[in-house]
Amino acid sequence: MNISSPSVTLGFYGGVGTVTGSKYLLQAGGQRILVDCGMFQGLKHLRDRNWQEMPFRPADIDVVVITHAHIDHSGYLPRLVKMGFAGPIYCSEGTAKLLEILLPDAGRLQEEEADHRNQHGLTRHEPAKPLYDEQDAFDVLRQLRPIKGANTTIDLFQQNGSQITAQFMNAGHIIGSRFVLIDIQQRTPTPSQTRILFSGDIGQYNRPILPDPTPPPVCDYMLVESTYGDRLHPGAAPEIALARIINETAQRHGITLIPAFAVDRTQELIYMIRELEDAGKIPILPVYVDSPMAAKACEVYAELRSEQDDAYRKLETQHRRPLSTRKMTIASGRDESRKVNDAEGPCIILSAAGMMTGGRVLHHAQRILPDRRSTIVFAGYQAEGTTGRLIKDGASEVTIYKTKCPVRCHVETVDGLSSHADWQDTLHWLSALPQPPRTVFITHGEQQAAEALQGHITQTYGWECRVPQQGERYELSPGQAVLLHPNGSTEVGVATSH
Ligand SMILES: [Zn+2]
Repeated sequence: MNISSPSVTLGFYGGVGTVTGSKYLLQAGGQRILVDCGMFQGLKHLRDRNWQEMPFRPADIDVVVITHAHIDHSGYLPRLVKMGFAGPIYCSEGTAKLLEILLPDAGRLQEEEADHRNQHGLTRHEPAKPLYDEQDAFDVLRQLRPIKGANTTIDLFQQNGSQITAQFMNAGHIIGSRFVLIDIQQRTPTPSQTRILFSGDIGQYNRPILPDPTPPPVCDYMLVESTYGDRLHPGAAPEIALARIINETAQRHGITLIPAFAVDRTQELIYMIRELEDAGKIPILPVYVDSPMAAKACEVYAELRSEQDDAYRKLETQHRRPLSTRKMTIASGRDESRKVNDAEGPCIILSAAGMMTGGRVLHHAQRILPDRRSTIVFAGYQAEGTTGRLIKDGASEVTIYKTKCPVRCHVETVDGLSSHADWQDTLHWLSALPQPPRTVFITHGEQQAAEALQGHITQTYGWECRVPQQGERYELSPGQAVLLHPNGSTEVGVATSH
């Protein structure tokens, strides 16, 4: 280990120009720190990147730091480990618990997709292989080093008075989400300090369950996400729309079906439905949570007290269970799920997948979509090409399990449920910085969202901002960030795919 080498470099190998595949490689003092290890998702040219040769050797990475458990920040870990990474993976306790649920599931999905391609002859490279399988995902869990507490600093490396630390602070995005300050203090040849803040994903303020994002600390360089860099959340509270929809559907004796992401969105909706019940704004109805992953995630949300906000804890002191409505049934097993299929209205069913790309929600949809009394409610983003998007866009018929299914039920959308800060929230979060960073790198957004946030930050604060491109590498000098020419690189082979 040569921690005294003065050069600090940062490479952007995902999560730029897109919201997926986050991977940032920080090199300092001969150490290689990979911050986030996300899978590319969505369009084919992005998914193909998961299969391309990495711009670094996995075995050369010393440590991995994960900001939060979402697959676009963690889903490449099994591949990294499979390809030779053997070091520690630091993350919050909440993130570690969610990864135990999410990564094996991602492995199973990869296996199913490869099987599907092989069965239907959809592959040019026989046989199609998964990016990784369930066992690869289990292998990752052994390397996790969970960090307790909502504001904790750990030593990554230490030698002769020089050191690199990582401070994990609450990002308010999903349970266990953190932004991370990496502090590089070198004693020789001359004393120097470089602090780089990785925002991960920053949450909205005033959301249920989770505390607001912690204000950011002093840093020299900063990466800030821009998922909503060009958008604002609607002003109207989502619970008002939700109450109206539940009431109207109940009056028709229909079923309210909400396709919801198993982690975070489901918990937020349960919390909201319970609040509406407590306030007498909706009748007490049977609520069925039909998703094994959501069931496990509910346990994590209820268990991790240090992650809950004051309102949540106060409810517990009043002997209320914040994540349980009056008549709630959680269906983990298949038999329990089948019983939910017999449930009559009025009732509420929450089930995954959130975009109706698979999962138990499809069984319920087959029954509920043709029923004029019932309502399907979209409470999250519906990507193009998904069954959820087709219904949301007004399709009169969709195909589920190869069977045509008419859509006669009411179709509603509840806006404003987002785990991401919009651009005004982001500016508010940045306003707490004690002093301007030398450079703000705008990451984790479509190009236009990143550029919009760049405009907002420059106009409001006058800070130097850059929108890095895939494969770019910068030297973080004490003065400013310098873009390194790919050909000048000798430490790692740098991808140049633009
Ligand atoms: Zn996220």
